[in-house]
Amino acid sequence: MVKRRRHAEIAGGGIAGLTAAILLARAGWTVRVHERAEVIREIGAGIFLHNNGLLVLEEAGLMKDLAPLGTRLLRDHMVDWRGRVMQSRDLGTPVTRRWSFPRQALIEVLHAAALRLGVEIVTGSTIDSARAEGLLVDAAGREHGADLVVGADGHRSAVRASLGLTRVERRVPTTSIRFLVAGRELAPEPTSTEHWSRRRRVAFAAAGHDHTYVYMACPEWDEAGSRVPLEVDSWSEHFPRLRHAFELLHRLEPFKAHYSWVRAEPWSAGRAVLLGDAAHALPPTLGQGSNLAMSNARSLVTYLEQGDDVPAALRAWERAVRPTTDATQRWAGYYDRLTKHWPNALSPVRSAVIWAFGVSPQLAGRLRRADRTPPVTELPAVRVTT
Ligand SMILES: Cc1cc2nc3c(=O)[nH]c(=O)nc-3n(C[C@H](O)[C@H](O)[C@H](O)COP(=O)(O)OP(=O)(O)OC[C@H]3O[C@@H](n4cnc5c(N)ncnc54)[C@H](O)[C@@H]3O)c2cc1C
Repeated sequence: MVKRRRHAEIAGGGIAGLTAAILLARAGWTVRVHERAEVIREIGAGIFLHNNGLLVLEEAGLMKDLAPLGTRLLRDHMVDWRGRVMQSRDLGTPVTRRWSFPRQALIEVLHAAALRLGVEIVTGSTIDSARAEGLLVDAAGREHGADLVVGADGHRSAVRASLGLTRVERRVPTTSIRFLVAGRELAPEPTSTEHWSRRRRVAFAAAGHDHTYVYMACPEWDEAGSRVPLEVDSWSEHFPRLRHAFELLHRLEPFKAHYSWVRAEPWSAGRAVLLGDAAHALPPTLGQGSNLAMSNARSLVTYLEQGDDVPAALRAWERAVRPTTDATQRWAGYYDRLTKHWPNALSPVRSAVIWAFGVSPQLAGRLRRADRTPPVTELPAVRVTT
């Protein structure tokens, strides 16, 4: 007897939704993605991909398309207000490796791969709610039944809200300003350098042979730091050696964002599951939001492959991957607070703390647990005892 192909309906055509679509389609599922926007596109400048996310892209055969569009970074520097290096990490090992890309490049590669695999992508389709028996309901009231429904609809997830899974959803009071700058003058080497001064950070990273990714962060209550176009004098007062960069950035169109903190409990209800920011939006300080989304999507497919009991697979998957996700979210929060709340008078102590995280394998291991945790690609065989 020919086995029926299982079907998935996914809300959200961002990194989480498209990755899940690709991986499910590769595993033999039929898949439909509903994206509220009229086109599939990313909002933002650049993105860092770490080992856990890269493993997923490599296994799916997508790195050959992506690699020419990004940069494999070799080192990551953290520099204090005096220009002293607080930390310099080697990104050349299998677990510390990091690539940086223009965001749009990643979403285009995922979009093209999903289409090649026969995923149906419906743009202009807003999902209003989901039901645990395996149903997405769109804004026109149409019901889309499936063996699995996925809420990958971002930090304000309608799917999560309709299933009553939201425990925390709050805006983090940090301003994030990002640029994708044409050319590599600001980052000629394949490195990423993050400068810290009082409660502000600014970083420059190569992102492909002809782009530089710049991100800046400060507390939301820092009005001069949060303003766009960029306040050259205010930023130069914090980082005098970077004035030339701020003069250039002042003339460019920034992406200004705030980020969110989401806790959902549990991540699934019946046949409905949350992925990516819908489940666990976190500050971007460790660059793990998308990487966790991709890695968790890969693990999810492994659990679904075990049998036909979708709700049981979703529960087992969450038990397996949630501890690393929760720990990463917690550490990303500490990192965010290290910039925002540290007393200015104690900046030298903070430099020492950052140094310690660079040299202690134990501390680095806790901070970067997600980088070191590959997705689950196989499960131990169940031992049957008689
Ligand atoms: C400043 C900043 C820097 C970051 N840097 C990194 C980094 O370097 N590395 C990293 O891994 N992560 C990073 N992140 C985190 C990363 O961007 C997110 O974790 C990731 O984009 C989440 O993807 P997602 O698909 O879950 O959600 P989203 O990207 O929010 O996608 C959700 C999609 O669903 C659609 N949608 C929403 N509601 C509905 C609905 N009701 N019906 C249908 N469609 C809907 C939206 O239009 C969107 O396309 C960063 C985040 C920020 C803010």
